[in-house]
Parts: sequence; C-alpha cells; structure tokens
Amino acid sequence: MRSGNAILEAIETKKFGGELSDELIRDVVDGYTAGEVPDYQMASLLMAIFIQGMDYEETLALTRAMAESGKTYSFPECVDKHSTGGVGDKVSLTALPIVAACGAPVAKLSGRGLGTTGGTIDKLESIPGFSCHLSKEQFRRQVEEIGLAIIEAGDLAPADKEIYALRDTTGTVDSLPLIGSSIVSKKVATGAGYLLYDVKRGSGAFMKTTDEAHKLAELLVRLSEDLGIHASALITDMDNPLGSAVGNALEVRESVRLLKNEPVPDDLSNEVSHVATRLLELKGMPEAETAVDSALSSGAAYEKFREFVLAQGADAEALENLPVSAEVREVKAPRSGYVARFGASGIGRAALALGAGREKKGDKVDHGSGIEVLVNPGDRIEAGQSVARLHGERKAEQAEHLVLEALEISDEPVEPPPAILDSL
Ligand code: URA
Repeated sequence: MRSGNAILEAIETKKFGGELSDELIRDVVDGYTAGEVPDYQMASLLMAIFIQGMDYEETLALTRAMAESGKTYSFPECVDKHSTGGVGDKVSLTALPIVAACGAPVAKLSGRGLGTTGGTIDKLESIPGFSCHLSKEQFRRQVEEIGLAIIEAGDLAPADKEIYALRDTTGTVDSLPLIGSSIVSKKVATGAGYLLYDVKRGSGAFMKTTDEAHKLAELLVRLSEDLGIHASALITDMDNPLGSAVGNALEVRESVRLLKNEPVPDDLSNEVSHVATRLLELKGMPEAETAVDSALSSGAAYEKFREFVLAQGADAEALENLPVSAEVREVKAPRSGYVARFGASGIGRAALALGAGREKKGDKVDHGSGIEVLVNPGDRIEAGQSVARLHGERKAEQAEHLVLEALEISDEPVEPPPAILDSL
C-alpha cells in the first residue's frame, strides 16, 4: 500500500478505537522513516493511539517495524541492561564491568542524558579521550577481545528516533504501548541475547507509581521475549538519587570507588550487586552472587573497566583523579531533624542548572559540574550542616534553591526506602 493511503487508513481506524493490522503498521512506519508521511499526519495517528491505546499484537507489530527500520546488530551471547532513566544512576557504568569480569560479554548501545535524567554516553565522555564512536567491526572485535564495549545508539531503529522526537513535542510521550515499543525496538536492533530492564519508579523517573512501573516492566519483558531476547526486569526506587554523586565526572568517580571495592552508599552498592547477579543468572551462570563479590574484591572488575576505557581511546590513568569543577558551593540544612526525602526530581533539575545536562537541544554539557549529595534518607541532621556540595559555575544560586526545595526534613525518625521494590 502507498504510505499516503496507509496513514489515512490508520488514522481513520484508530480514531474509532479499531485495531491496526501488522501490514498497515509496517507501511506507516516505513513511510514515516522515508519522509513520505508528513509530521502532521503522524502526530494525528500518535494522538489517536495515545487516546485509544493499542492492544498487545499492535504493540508487538510496531516494535518489530521500528526495530527493522535501519541497521541491526546481532550479539546473541551478550548481556545488556537498560534503565528507564534516573538521577545519579551509574548502574551501567558499574554492573557491566563486573559481569564482563565474570565472563559474560557485554555489547551495549547507550544514549545521552534526557531532561533531568543522565546518560551513560555523557558520563563516559567525561573521561579524557574516551570515544563512543566505533565502527561496527571495531565494536564487534572489542566485544570479542575485552568482553565489554559501549557506543552511542546512533542510527539503530531510526523510525523510533523520528517518532520519539515527534512525541516529545506533541504530548504523546507518556503512552504505555508507545514507550514499550520505543524502548524494545532499540534493544532488538542492538541484538544482545540477554537483557535486564531496570524500571525506575518515583519523582525522578518517568513512571511515578509502582503500579505504572509494573505494567511497563511486564510489557518490556513480554515484547522482548516474543522478539527473541531472554529478558527480566526489576523495579527500583527513584524518589531519591542513587548513591551520592549526580553529574558526569562525579558519577564516574563514584563508579571507580565502587569498582575498586571502596566504600560507597549502600543503596548504590546493593543495587549494583543485585543487577550484576541477576544478569549472570539470566545468562545461566552458576554461583552468580559469589562471582560478583569476588570480581569486586579481587580487583578484576576495576581492571576490566580500565581495559575497556583504554580500548575506547581514554587515558585510564585519568580515572584516578577525574577533573571536576573547582567552583564549589556548600548547601546547609535549614533546620535539624531527619532526612525524609532528598527529591530526585529537584536534585536532577539542580544538576541540569549547573550544566550537567542539556536544558535545550544542542546545549553544551559541563562534564565537571554536578552535585555531591552528603546525606541520605533516614539520616539525623543538624541545622547548618552541609547536606550537598554543588560543583559548577552556571546558575549556582538557582541550583541551591532547587536542592533546598528537594530536601524534606521530618521531626520523627525515618526508615530509608528499599532500593529494589520488585522484580519479575
Ligand atoms: N525511553 C525511550 O527510549 N522511549 C520512550 O518512549 C521513553 C523512554
């Protein structure tokens, strides 16, 4: 069918709640990717889908069509993890070298920061010399030789890239079938055989409630399994930032401490060990928990991380003392009490104001900027005590306000929330 007819038929069908056939979905996706379907018609269809929904078969067909809209890779022996995005989330930087050191190869395509949520590529680029642009052949060779390679997602699933940009400006992002198909299409195009989804829930995440996160996790696993990936999912807390560092170089520094088996906040070390263990179990490796502990205590995980950054052009010695902004401001507690919450959304916005992410398309990231969170939920604090350290010269005053707004203090003792809320 010509894409002009297909898009009109799809709009007419979906606006009355009808079901789109696999063929119609494929024609629309191919037509939009080829530039034959204009944005105004695609936006109309997306809004109809947003309002009327899509059943599972339609969602699967959309996922498959987007996955096959460009180049595809195949790494059936490799593991990968995908986070739906959070603040201070450095689990990819840490859990993946651990599993690679345990013998599970990792082929990962990552993205840059989106809004207040950080991106693995921006974090890695804070290491002087690191390049996330390898040819397909270099990428494959590095996975074989080192067992760990991470590059930018680039031109995989181009249909998703176009549709996502349109959704972002037409109020159609927060639709479960559209989010599910968007995420899984990129994973199918990447081709790793074993995948763990980390679905974040809370103020700093896309999914605000555990129930919403559960529905997304179920959809991601079902779509992945039906498209040939062994998948499982965790639901984790994102009401508070993960660990203490937020911002690119600061997060790499905290990751290096974790990989060297030095002390880091418990929420981070527990979540990283759990994710690494689950990935090894998914791949069917025995004694997964023991293997993870010994990769950390023997130094093998840190050695793997050094090998990986060196292979991608970075100066591995620079990891020992990555530069961060010398422009520092301490934020003090306005009163005494117990930390009830240090809202991830507010901390994320403060880090963005300091330059750790992009407020608008094309903004330049200041890799050395960000926030050290000095107190955690449950901690007793005194008035005037430093609760956060801001690094960066851009909009530091605004960042300080946002951090103070994010700090909720209770007069009663507070039980810290669990980092891992559910798994499936
Ligand atoms: N992340 C994605 O890749 N796609 C979405 O639709 C939402 C989050």
